[in-house]
Amino acid sequence: MTPEALARATAERLRQAAHLNATLAWSEDDLLAQALRPHGGPLAGTAVAVKDNLVTASLPTTCASRILEGYRSPFEATVVRRLRAAGALIAAKTNMDEFAMGSSSEFSAYGPVLHPLDSSRVPGGSSGGSAALVGAGVVPAALGSETGGSVRQPAAFCGVVGMKPTYGRVSRYGLVAFGSSLDCVAVFGRDVATAATVLEAISGPDPRDATSRAEPPIHLASIPADLGEMTIGLPREYWPADLDPAIAAGVERAKACLEALGARVRWVELPHTRYAVPTYYVLAPAEAAANLARFDGVRYGQRRVSPTATIDDLYRATRGQGFGPEVRRRIVVGTYVLSAGYHDTYYGKAQLARSRIAADFDRVFNDGVDLLLTPTTPSPAFRLGEKVSDPVAMYLADTFVCAVSLAGLPAISLPIGRTEGLPVGVQLIGPAAGDERVLTVAAALERVVDPVAELR
Ligand code: GLN
Repeated sequence: MTPEALARATAERLRQAAHLNATLAWSEDDLLAQALRPHGGPLAGTAVAVKDNLVTASLPTTCASRILEGYRSPFEATVVRRLRAAGALIAAKTNMDEFAMGSSSEFSAYGPVLHPLDSSRVPGGSSGGSAALVGAGVVPAALGSETGGSVRQPAAFCGVVGMKPTYGRVSRYGLVAFGSSLDCVAVFGRDVATAATVLEAISGPDPRDATSRAEPPIHLASIPADLGEMTIGLPREYWPADLDPAIAAGVERAKACLEALGARVRWVELPHTRYAVPTYYVLAPAEAAANLARFDGVRYGQRRVSPTATIDDLYRATRGQGFGPEVRRRIVVGTYVLSAGYHDTYYGKAQLARSRIAADFDRVFNDGVDLLLTPTTPSPAFRLGEKVSDPVAMYLADTFVCAVSLAGLPAISLPIGRTEGLPVGVQLIGPAAGDERVLTVAAALERVVDPVAELR
């Protein structure tokens, strides 16, 4: 296929998928212009969609917010530059929850994204547009971002692979900040090998990101046919008594397959797991409140008032009209938990809980466990509107994904089967910098699993 044919075919597929509302910007002219550039490299022939909180020079970046409507970045995110250097075609900017805050992609200022297999359901979030495009077969891979599960959770809902690397292995330069101590660029792929190829292209040290780690790029070596050396831990806390039977069946299937491949599976304990959601929903809003201060109509953000307004009127109008309800809620909560008098009660305590959660993982990984196997989500894709007016119900969609984010660990969600036609995912979690191990075992598991087989 020539680059021009790829550009035209991608445009055609994007048009056919328009009803999903998965994109915020793309153009056939931009695709054709990219096809004229010199091509070659490990991602030549691969169209990759990019979440709209990663800055691109050729297309606008809005974070699905009114406040950034029409914003164009003067520079490109490191990951976007690396994708281009590896030969990828940047297909589109994808729809998402506003500023990546949400678990359903319903909190976009530009309307919700629909699930690619069932338009009455959500694709998950916040990287729902990227997940939906890969799930619909429009592109083989896409970039998303994770602060607390925003790639793994929608990957599970949409029946695709979603990999969150170790914090710092992929540069955050050019990723619009949400919770800086948690944010990671993460990858969707139609299979493990595709996700790994994209990760290899974008990972590795970046002098422009002070938190970037020194390890070389993530590389998927050969896939073992036998996992005889592996011990897989099943954390009891991820197997509550009321776990959805289809989700439990997914984990059972993964466990049986890993055992058939020779791995040893044993129960482990991560006793601070129950603090993960409340801890995350203190720390992430606290960091968000600080990070979003820059959208003030002076430095960033579309100004909503006349130049004669007072500075307070300027802030109030710009932020009041520019931010949607969930973003405003996070700023209020984040400001509150950081305020004098409440800082120790909330933010300080959450920092302590975060260190205990991370220590739980360290203990099991130091005690002979190579990887952990858990569900990715408490349920398959839920219905549009089901949780949108109940923030706590929405936050609980992150039950199995946000401890990993607090601990900065690598984890993957892999499709394991379906229930009533809806995809179910399982999660493999590795120790810090164990990204290669996570990918290798996921690839071995993927070989022996039929991802569209109905779970009993
Ligand atoms: N659902 C979580 C939130 O709303 C995670 C979001 C994310 O990972 N970007 O904050």
